[in-house]
Amino acid sequence: MSAAPLAILSALAEEQQGLRERLDRLERVERAGRVFWRGLLHGQPVVLALSRIGKVAAATTATTLIEAFGAQRLVFTGVAGGVGPGVAVGDVVVATEFVQHDMDASPLFPRFHVPLYGRARFACDAALTAKLAWATQAGLAQLAGVMPGPGERNQRLHQGLVASGDRFVSAAAEAAALHAALHDAGHPTLAVEMEGAAVAQVCHDYGIPFAAMRTISDRADDTAHIDFPQFVTDVASRYALAIIDEFVRALPAR
Ligand code: SAH
Repeated sequence: MSAAPLAILSALAEEQQGLRERLDRLERVERAGRVFWRGLLHGQPVVLALSRIGKVAAATTATTLIEAFGAQRLVFTGVAGGVGPGVAVGDVVVATEFVQHDMDASPLFPRFHVPLYGRARFACDAALTAKLAWATQAGLAQLAGVMPGPGERNQRLHQGLVASGDRFVSAAAEAAALHAALHDAGHPTLAVEMEGAAVAQVCHDYGIPFAAMRTISDRADDTAHIDFPQFVTDVASRYALAIIDEFVRALPAR
């Protein structure tokens, strides 16, 4: 396989499963204590990886994808807690930028700034992100009605800032405080998760285009953990598969 592969990073095994089943010429490779899957998806060379959980683990996975597999573009799927107003369970957030909510080197640097980078936020690639947002709309339309529960509310696509940190946020008071602190520092946040900002920073360092989507699995409140496994299996993994499939089919080969 000569062309540089597209790396597809999933946070959860359930999200990767369906993709793996669709690959042609599947090949398993072990590296850095991780399993990677190379193959062709709709004729395009791809490499699948589980990010693992937390910023350091995700940064190692992203670095390995770039250094050992020659990935030239990265796309990420996962779930997240909605903290922005109106960001509801079952909605999808396509990130435009990432911030680390647990980065605090104050008073040496402003809170949330990553020291020596002169910034708090790392942007996703605009063109790749626009394609992912398009694919998300297409995927949501395809899967209308999959989301269980009362009401006929349509699942929505949101685009904006996502915050990452090494913490599963599962208390309403904590989520509100986090959202307020970020907002007051000029970082209005839609969702919280545990990996994206690390991958965005690695991609920034290497100059590699990066895009990310997160299905909202919870509101980062006191019930955040309750329906999590069921939601991942029933909803998030199906969204991720449909969206990535649309995304890859629409992506010009390199
Ligand atoms: N049960 C899972 C672990 C989930 S950890 C397992 O055993 O594999 C939580 C994952 O969901 C992380 O990938 C994180 O990015 C995301 N996430 C979802 N809701 C979150 C929240 N409220 N706070 C932080 N991360 C959240």
